[in-house]
Amino acid sequence: MSTITSESAAEKNLDFFFIANQPALDLANTLIAAKGVPLELMPNFHSFCRWVEKAGLAPVDQIKRASQTWSRLQEEAFMDGLRDYRARVKEVIVALGNKKPVPNSFVEETNRLLIEANAVVQVEAHDAKTFRRTWPLNWSQPKSVFGLIAETGLQLICDCDLSLVRKCESPDCVLAFYDTTKNHKRRWCSMDVCGNRHKATLHRRKVQGSSAQRSP
Ligand SMILES: [Zn+2]
Repeated sequence: MSTITSESAAEKNLDFFFIANQPALDLANTLIAAKGVPLELMPNFHSFCRWVEKAGLAPVDQIKRASQTWSRLQEEAFMDGLRDYRARVKEVIVALGNKKPVPNSFVEETNRLLIEANAVVQVEAHDAKTFRRTWPLNWSQPKSVFGLIAETGLQLICDCDLSLVRKCESPDCVLAFYDTTKNHKRRWCSMDVCGNRHKATLHRRKVQGSSAQRSP
């Protein structure tokens, strides 16, 4: 299947979706579908930097350091690996949607990336009373930045209630989310888009049904 290029995505003024409440799912939501055709929202390293910044996963100055020191080849290899990991996150979403377990290959790949990133957990003191878990991320090293991405996958399967990871119920929509609503009844990526479209379809069917009944 063909993928719409970055230029055409930019022309359409498309931006990222941050509707998932979970960064690995937000990453999965950077490959969407428009009328059944895959639409890439993260076509190059520049767009990845923009996504990381918008996702709040790293400070801008650190991301800039990467864009200043990596070669074009490193950027391209990184993007290939990123798309591969994103495809694996999508496999997890599909598996969970079918009430199947998280594929072992996802766990193995996440661990491999974390080990390669040397993601050894440490404690960082914010002040005398506040501490946080961290690991030394080196933005001049692509492998290290992969650790950041693998960490979002680790958070997905370790910290989330996996029964609440869902795909939008609209059959035309590929967006996924982590349902953090109180009653866990979230059905749509966005009420404004797929929720309202569903309501309109129900309404149209109702109107068509009642006019059919009136026909002789
Ligand atoms: Zn949707």
